[in-house]
Amino acid sequence: MTDWNALSDEEFRRIVRDFFEREYPPHLRFPATRLRWAQIREWHEKLLARGWVAPAWPREYGGMGLSPAKLLIFIEEQERWGVARGRDMGVQMVGPLLIRYGTEEQKRYWLPRILTCEHIWCQGYSEPEAGSDLASLATRAVRQGDHFVVDGRKIWSTLADDATHMFMLVRTNPDAPRKQAGISFLLVDMKSPGITVRPITTLSGEAEFCEVLFEGVRVPVANLVGEIDDGWRMAKALLGFERLFIGSPKLARNALTQLEKLARARGLFADPAFADRYARLALDVADHAALYARFAERVRRGEPLGAEVSLLKIWATETYQAITELMREAAGPDAAVPGFLDYGGERLDVLGTWYFARPTTIYGGSNEIQRNILAKAVLELPG
Ligand SMILES: Cc1cc2nc3c(=O)[nH]c(=O)nc-3n(C[C@H](O)[C@H](O)[C@H](O)COP(=O)(O)OP(=O)(O)OC[C@H]3O[C@@H](n4cnc5c(N)ncnc54)[C@H](O)[C@@H]3O)c2cc1C
Repeated sequence: MTDWNALSDEEFRRIVRDFFEREYPPHLRFPATRLRWAQIREWHEKLLARGWVAPAWPREYGGMGLSPAKLLIFIEEQERWGVARGRDMGVQMVGPLLIRYGTEEQKRYWLPRILTCEHIWCQGYSEPEAGSDLASLATRAVRQGDHFVVDGRKIWSTLADDATHMFMLVRTNPDAPRKQAGISFLLVDMKSPGITVRPITTLSGEAEFCEVLFEGVRVPVANLVGEIDDGWRMAKALLGFERLFIGSPKLARNALTQLEKLARARGLFADPAFADRYARLALDVADHAALYARFAERVRRGEPLGAEVSLLKIWATETYQAITELMREAAGPDAAVPGFLDYGGERLDVLGTWYFARPTTIYGGSNEIQRNILAKAVLELPG
């Protein structure tokens, strides 16, 4: 087995880039929606055959065991080539959690099935009355012998109708002194009796989310990860690396490239007002990328990221949205047409990209919440 960390950065980047450019299906580059299992399966099989499904996992569990520096290169190359996210909640969230907090038996059972995608995971955190204020979640799990009985309602679970399992936060002790206490982390088979999945169609016409109802759903106690009532600590641990990657410049950068193609095809750079707006956005993207590189460098050195990383997410997503707004204006009436259109040989999905940009300021901790974090933890403003 190759020790990827022993290669030079340049060599490793070349190998990763070659593989993506050669093997990744061209029609799936830069998709404007989250892909379903049937669409991404073939690519997953290629990654699996190469042992590249889980770049960040230790090798003993079937991962690539990449150092932070090599992992950044892997992700940069994915982003550069427009490689879509797979059905990766198992790899990105459940796996790392089990590796850190799971029992040996749990690791032996769940981890290989995550790698093969025999199990496809969705996330059950948000509820109708618990989003930004997640600790208010009310879905109950009551222990009865060697099972928990779960009752409640989750919402906005991305592609839950395309998943076999859900990792979820449930309230196991409603009498705990603080609402963050008394929450536990459960792994649930979506085929369990008592689960109803209702897809929710978004503005773009895609059924990307689901509402998931739980009525007397029996979940084996063996599916509890970590200690009972300690789920909040684990949910927070999952945020770690994600806080950096959610602020990556990739979306804004890709959108800027699309805007440039559109503008060239329509001769818009001859208009000084347009050129001025484009230049401002291009500078925002460049500034953001420079800031991102500084945070990424800290990760490379193995240093923790402070609360100021929230700045990245705000800047990345708001710049991205601003670019898609200008794209929409630049496309004129075409902006109302769904799907890809041809602009001088370039295929662009203006409306899809605009839709895709809308929720970025909401998920992963809304931008208002990120601003609160900056105000309190960085600027130390009174609460
Ligand atoms: C594309 C997408 C995918 C998602 N996927 C999943 C998933 O797979 N699983 C899952 O569990 N959830 C998922 N979510 C849900 C997401 O985590 C929540 O939407 C998010 O946490 C916000 O919660 P909410 O929608 O309840 O809004 P609310 O918390 O009700 O907020 C409504 C508005 O009020 C603002 N607000 C709230 N509190 C404050 C405050 N204290 N100060 C200032 N402003 C505030 C918010 O910023 C927002 O603008 C997804 C959401 C999106 C958009």
